[in-house]
Amino acid sequence: MIIDCHGHYTTSPRQHEGWRTQQIEAHAAGKAPPPRPSITDDELRETIIGGQLKLQRERGTDLTIFSPRAAGMGHHLGDASTSEGWAAACNELIHRVCTLFPKNFIGVGMLPQSARVSPKNCLAEIDRCVNEYGFVGINLNPDPSGGHWQDPPLGDRYWYPVYEKMVEYDIPAMVHVSAACNPAFHTTGSHYLSGDTTGFNQLMTSSVLKDFPSIKFIIPHGGGAVPYHWGRYRGLAQDAKLGLLSEIMLKNVFFDTCVYHLPGQELLAKVIPVDNILFASEMIGAVRGIDPETGHHYDDTKRYIDQLPLSPADKAKIFEGNARRVYGRLSKQIEKQTGL
Ligand SMILES: [Zn+2]
Repeated sequence: MIIDCHGHYTTSPRQHEGWRTQQIEAHAAGKAPPPRPSITDDELRETIIGGQLKLQRERGTDLTIFSPRAAGMGHHLGDASTSEGWAAACNELIHRVCTLFPKNFIGVGMLPQSARVSPKNCLAEIDRCVNEYGFVGINLNPDPSGGHWQDPPLGDRYWYPVYEKMVEYDIPAMVHVSAACNPAFHTTGSHYLSGDTTGFNQLMTSSVLKDFPSIKFIIPHGGGAVPYHWGRYRGLAQDAKLGLLSEIMLKNVFFDTCVYHLPGQELLAKVIPVDNILFASEMIGAVRGIDPETGHHYDDTKRYIDQLPLSPADKAKIFEGNARRVYGRLSKQIEKQTGL
């Protein structure tokens, strides 16, 4: 089985996104949001069949761990109740997609975060996602302000209520920012990658991984700048007397393969142990074009893994085994949804 651990519902129905606009406008006008639009199962099917499902089939992948559109999380918009309403609507749609296509999608939830609002606010939605929807992970935004970094770093006890839930349920968090509202950052070109890199560094310089020995984080987009600068982080950890980087980080921190060229994948696989690499493409996502150098889509990342000089056993870890290990509830959920 080939498990893509990083996909977002970037093709969600127009009325869902339209409701979001109305919700934000209502908040700005000091009014209650309108009721949510009704969306039929057929409308949902249509958004998936010609999109993510088609690409799964064309590219030979089996299952996508699927979450709401990341740039659309917009934790900097509205207030805590706006985020609650939006996260609830987005997660419910993911659950419906997973119910309609149980063999192809398993859910991960977005959180109702807001800048400078305690993450305790997210606990009820995590409960719902796990207990009612069968989701197997969460996306945790280290910067709900959208590029102004107004919340404490991930090492701060501020975040511990979420970490306690993650450990209780055995669900990992993908450290994933949303859209940047700071014009200094391009959302997918710089804010995402700096969010990944910053999240890793915040965890490295904290006691989170000691305080929660079984907690798991996935750093997406190939780990941002981290694998490329592994020597820098090894040296920083050494200078700060934190211990050996691989020993302090690699029991808990994993990297996905959303790297859109072969040389980047080669570097990832050379620097990071195969046990810490999870296959992912983030399709349909940030980069949708075809690479003129290869004639293939940049985000068809399976092709790069296929070309790596790794044994079939190591590739199986990247494609399937590591995802089943890192997402502790995944194998049971696969059984439940597919009967396999
Ligand atoms: Zn993403």
